[in-house]
Amino acid sequence: MNQVYDVIIIGAGVVGSAVAREFARYRLKVGVLEKELDVCCETSGRNSGVLHGGFTYKTGSLKAKCSVEGNAEFDQVAAELDVPFKRTGKVVVGFTEDDMQSLLRFKAVGDANGVPGLEIIDKGRLAELDSSAGGEFAMYSPSSGILNPFIYTVALAENAKQNGVDFYFGNEVLSVQRKNEIYEIATGESFYKARWVVNCAGLNSAKISSMLGIDGYTIGGFKGEYFVLDKKVGKYLNMPVYPAPGSNGGFATHATPTVDGNVLIGPDSTLVADFEDYGVTPAALKGLIVDGAKMFNHVKREHFIRNFSGIRPKLIDKETKQVLDFVVESRSEAPNVINLVGIESPGITSALPLARRTVALFKDQERLIPNEKFNPRRQGILCFAKQSDAIKKELIEQDPNYGEIICRCETVTKAEILQAIHNCLGVTTVTGIKNRTRAMMGRCQGGYCETRIVQLLQQELHKQETDIVYSRSGSEMFTGKVRI
Ligand SMILES: Cc1cc2nc3c(=O)[nH]c(=O)nc-3n(C[C@H](O)[C@H](O)[C@H](O)COP(=O)(O)OP(=O)(O)OC[C@H]3O[C@@H](n4cnc5c(N)ncnc54)[C@H](O)[C@@H]3O)c2cc1C
Repeated sequence: MNQVYDVIIIGAGVVGSAVAREFARYRLKVGVLEKELDVCCETSGRNSGVLHGGFTYKTGSLKAKCSVEGNAEFDQVAAELDVPFKRTGKVVVGFTEDDMQSLLRFKAVGDANGVPGLEIIDKGRLAELDSSAGGEFAMYSPSSGILNPFIYTVALAENAKQNGVDFYFGNEVLSVQRKNEIYEIATGESFYKARWVVNCAGLNSAKISSMLGIDGYTIGGFKGEYFVLDKKVGKYLNMPVYPAPGSNGGFATHATPTVDGNVLIGPDSTLVADFEDYGVTPAALKGLIVDGAKMFNHVKREHFIRNFSGIRPKLIDKETKQVLDFVVESRSEAPNVINLVGIESPGITSALPLARRTVALFKDQERLIPNEKFNPRRQGILCFAKQSDAIKKELIEQDPNYGEIICRCETVTKAEILQAIHNCLGVTTVTGIKNRTRAMMGRCQGGYCETRIVQLLQQELHKQETDIVYSRSGSEMFTGKVRI
């Protein structure tokens, strides 16, 4: 490709998508390179979806500042981008005197970080807030919340795209060279040129950092496994219930409601060398049941519908093995590079504050001209299942595809699937449809609708069944027709 971009962003997770949207506010030519076939295929699609308050992070750290800032602005962001979000509050529960000391310590940190409204509550108040939560007492954080992390990432990326950013999927960055002040970026698919490069490569951020000329970072992959519980039990849990943190500030298995009505039990934390090791092990699942039942008293096998895992990219100090703060930097040895490394939790909560800091580093070196045409608003796919009967009737009258239910468990209509397929980012995978519509996320996990969705993908994208992939390149679902 001969076009020279002003900025190329590597990685289309929540951070790369937020950075793309922030740059779209200015008159710049911006491109995003993503190795997977869609946004949100790695850590951003594999987490608890909690909008954190910011009380566990060291005072003054970027993690603390960005989470408090990101939390405070989220009502406005969610409304602007049409992202499902609930400011539920959260309780961090304790059972022992040590737990009480831990909660008091973290309340002090939270107060110092500017987290609003933290209070220590007794068992009676805990029962009022959430009758199915375990714990003898708790710290209550009213500002915490829950959001749909898939839709948030899609929304940021769509809004960036609608404001002129180009997205290139299936483009893994393999090498970067700088010639005559221009970066030349080779991917498996093509070749791109840019004046500036922003590293938002998540688990691969240390690797990309080295390619850009900044060595010395070590990322540790900390895998967390989850159980997803049926929506039947969603009504029992009002807010995330976390156990009191250990001395390192890390949280063990918690119970979290999702904005769509399910409950997540997890994650645990295991160091993994393979950053694509998303396997879920029987031993870990056993542990989740034991630990999860302490947080939420409806953890029963009959409610389990799925499991999954995600990997936190923690930046590790090589000598002390301590986990370090987020890095957002621009350094003289790598001109026109902005490097984001170690963006682990609370990366979703912090995505927009991180993006603003990224743009500020650019602005330190170049004049930015506002893009007068920038529109911060984005409209998502209307969820048919959540509409009143009168609106449903109206929708069906306007478009008969609303009258055809494709996913029975989640009541997702053909109209919604078609809108997802024709998403402005260009959806080609089965999980792309799943993440945008919730089809295949219900009790039967796609047993009924998956093949129907594949047929729609084939028909709309003019593909053969053998071309349809589940999520990534190499995840082809069919070798051909069973019956002709
Ligand atoms: C178990 C778990 C629970 C969590 N819970 C929460 C929570 O409740 N709240 C919260 O705020 N945060 C939470 N987080 C943290 C949050 O999910 C991450 O901080 C955030 O998603 C990181 O986003 P990212 O865009 O940096 O990374 P990613 O989403 O991983 O995006 C990086 C992208 O870069 C792409 N990429 C990598 N290498 C290349 C290459 N060579 N070429 C092109 N593309 C490349 C990847 O494919 C990927 O799409 C949790 C994380 C985990 C794992």
